[in-house]
Amino acid sequence: MTQYVYMFSEGNRDQKDLLGGKGANLAEMVNMGLPVPPGFTISTDACREYLKTGEVPAQVRVQVTRCLRGVEDQIGRRVGSKDEPLLLSVRSGAKFSMPGMMETVLNVGLNDQTVQALTRFSGDERFAWDSYRRLIQMFGKTVLDIDSDLFSDALDARKELVGAQSDIDLGVLDLQRIVEEYKQIVERESGAPFPQDPREQLDQAIEAVFKSWNTERARIYRRRERIPDDLGTAVNVQAMVFGNLGEGSGTGVCFTRDPASGHSGVYGDYLPNAQGEDVVAGIRNTLALADLERLDPTSYRQLRQAMRRLETHYRDLCDIEFTIERGHLWMLQTRVGKRTAAAAFRVATQLVDEQLITMDEALERVTGDQLNQLLFPQFDKDAERDLLAVGMGASPGAAVGEVVFDNATAIARTEAGADVILVRRETSPEDLPGMVVAAGVLTARGGKTSHAAVVARGMGMCAVVGADELAVDVPKQEIRVGERVINAGDVIAIDGKTGEVFLGDVSVVDSPVMTYIAEGMDAAMEQVGQDEEVRELVEAVDRLLTHADNRRRLRVRTNADTGEDAQRARARGAEGIGLCRTEHQFLGERRVFIERVILAKDDADRQAAFDELLPLQRADFVELLTVMDGLPTTIRLIDPPLHEFLPNITDLSVKVALAEERGESGPEVDRDREVLEAVRATHEQNPMLGLRGVRLGLKFPGLFALQIRAIAEAVVELRGKGLDPQPEIMVPLVGSVRELELVREEAEAILAEVGKDAGVTLDLPIGCMIELPRAAMTAHRIVRSADFFSFGTNDLTQTTWGFSRDDVETEFFTDYYNNGVLTISPFETLDQFGVGSLVDAGVQRGRSVKPELKTGVCGEHGGDPESIHFFHDHALDYVSCSPFRVPVARLEAGRAAVMEGKSGPGASA
Ligand code: ADP
Ligand code: MG
Ligand code: MG
Repeated sequence: MTQYVYMFSEGNRDQKDLLGGKGANLAEMVNMGLPVPPGFTISTDACREYLKTGEVPAQVRVQVTRCLRGVEDQIGRRVGSKDEPLLLSVRSGAKFSMPGMMETVLNVGLNDQTVQALTRFSGDERFAWDSYRRLIQMFGKTVLDIDSDLFSDALDARKELVGAQSDIDLGVLDLQRIVEEYKQIVERESGAPFPQDPREQLDQAIEAVFKSWNTERARIYRRRERIPDDLGTAVNVQAMVFGNLGEGSGTGVCFTRDPASGHSGVYGDYLPNAQGEDVVAGIRNTLALADLERLDPTSYRQLRQAMRRLETHYRDLCDIEFTIERGHLWMLQTRVGKRTAAAAFRVATQLVDEQLITMDEALERVTGDQLNQLLFPQFDKDAERDLLAVGMGASPGAAVGEVVFDNATAIARTEAGADVILVRRETSPEDLPGMVVAAGVLTARGGKTSHAAVVARGMGMCAVVGADELAVDVPKQEIRVGERVINAGDVIAIDGKTGEVFLGDVSVVDSPVMTYIAEGMDAAMEQVGQDEEVRELVEAVDRLLTHADNRRRLRVRTNADTGEDAQRARARGAEGIGLCRTEHQFLGERRVFIERVILAKDDADRQAAFDELLPLQRADFVELLTVMDGLPTTIRLIDPPLHEFLPNITDLSVKVALAEERGESGPEVDRDREVLEAVRATHEQNPMLGLRGVRLGLKFPGLFALQIRAIAEAVVELRGKGLDPQPEIMVPLVGSVRELELVREEAEAILAEVGKDAGVTLDLPIGCMIELPRAAMTAHRIVRSADFFSFGTNDLTQTTWGFSRDDVETEFFTDYYNNGVLTISPFETLDQFGVGSLVDAGVQRGRSVKPELKTGVCGEHGGDPESIHFFHDHALDYVSCSPFRVPVARLEAGRAAVMEGKSGPGASA
């Protein structure tokens, strides 16, 4: 027989999977001997069974009876008793807290008879009828699905009728009338009278809590918080205690330390003569917890003691719900409290200083995402602000700029020196050029995993998405918000953390943590000045990041193409370059050279173009390798298909057609015609899978050779200056060992030749990207020609899933989130089951031949916390990420080391 129901005393805090967070922590408090009203928990197993079959397992009813009698015996009162009735609360509680998402029913057990008994027993008739009224209201809404407005409207009408200001002013007779009205509402709306049998009430309430797991808002919340849909909730049934039994009673919430600053002290709210939900509902103004000391010194002292014990026991900031019933303190809930990013860092180091936790444990308690939040510039809170709308903060930061609606304007205005905010209904890959130059992105549609959000996070830029109060009219170039109209060129400010959108400029300040990361401690301290709290924060970040650096095994490199980027990344602690994309070195003014290469009539023609490119390329590498002196610098040979360097086919066709129509002629027209022919010839149906990467290098002899020679000559030049350049040559899109062999033969010949001329040996590592499933599966063959592997997890994700990223993200990813195929984009967090298996196979197979093989990751996943844990656990040597993500990667790599093996489940079904 499965045990579905557990007395609180049977559980403990490690059983969150089974008992939910609330149940497990209630059990823990019972075990600690804290005053918890007796009760029991119906497990998540029962819920999952219910969700599967649509019925509460029969065993649950029987086991509930057993536990209910246990509670009755402990208290010495009976449910439904006509003398001293026991009332119950029925509380939801899943493994992860989902605040406000699911349901709770209080005062279960009241009916027309027990309400009389409660009157006698409590000596407070008003209290008894108020409790009954609350039960029918909560039961009606939660269990019977009745529109809660019907109840509150009836209550308001009654208050108006008798001239009552608040609920408290209603007398016994009013409450009795309200109960009558409520019962009528229930009967009318549900087709059956309000159930008088307490056990019937209990059974229905339990079922309702199970059912509330799948409400729309609970689903939406889970999707946002990445909580799996199949966990189910537990139900806690507990004896009621009453904070609304007059002035000697009350209810409150408190924290064992300040969840914003982390300081220990007395933080909380207290509401005399009230039941739990009144505090959150904000019906009356609460008192500060400190006031309780005056009102009820004994309970206050007991509470402080319980707080201290809980914090010592959990060794972390706890939040607590409590109720005082006629001078008796009851603990109703505790959990490790949610906190801001800043508090997370401060609390962690404070607990270390108080010797409650070790540095390793402290590292577990802060996340890369939290650190990331601390790195973005902040709006000056004291500045004047005009709030327009609130969307979702998708990528933190504070951005101010002119409203622009398209790429062209974004680029033109930025070139003219303006900051711009790109505003779209939603963004697509075509908006990328605009996003790249914009200070921030604002969309009216889409969620946290929408394209804009994903891309913005990758780029470390500020984004607010799904601000649906905004009517974005791109053709008219305006945004309408209610009556107001915002035009292109108007200045707005967006807060990527809070999702707020302001009209007009709001001044920003650099975050002090950013200053610390980029310029060091002294600069940060100068900025911080006298602000003790911020000083503590910067110091906490420094301590934890330093500890992470000491503990991590993964090295952290950066993806950087220019000396400037490399410089920035080095300042942030990058230990090398994992990916230098060389393609940008063929754009802009140099595009004509590629044109010439493509149009070349013969080898000599083509070689001439290469010869002109050589000094330019060499200069690129000299700059980069100077900045990265002494550190490994992986240079990827040119990767994208050639047509990316040629003019757009449609534009050029139109241009040529027009010229022909007008009868124009001359060398420029001839050239355009020639280029158009080449564009047509190189046009591919599916360029991502076409002539690119190593295939391109083999098809156009001399292209890779040019790059390899430039690298070799740069090394010679820098060594001559006494520097220590460490380039690594990386070949993209290899699928077969033979491809790599061919490039290697060519490369070795060039290195030997350049070395011989300079009188040095050039023994540069030559390796390849692993970004095709075939490469991963044949890694034991490819490795014969490779000195290192770098997993290009972006393309590996595309090729493993058969996804074209630019197409799928906008076309159907939203559906895939909705129907559970994906919980998060596999381009954001590594798909561990699929792509991860290939990474693992590649590492294993490569090392089966070369045990010391160096392996790294250069996809965007290299900066993603969950993915970093996977790469640590699978023994890669380094991750490489954008310069902006380097500190995050350092912290997460350290966390991965102290949390070895505890990484999450991965992103896809
Ligand atoms: P949530 O998860 O939304 O916080 P809870 O299950 O904690 O929901 O219950 C909602 C409110 O009801 C809380 O304020 C709590 O203090 C109160 N409450 C729950 N159980 C009891 C009880 N046994 N006696 C008195 N108040 C209770
Ligand atoms: Mg609660
Ligand atoms: Mg690639």
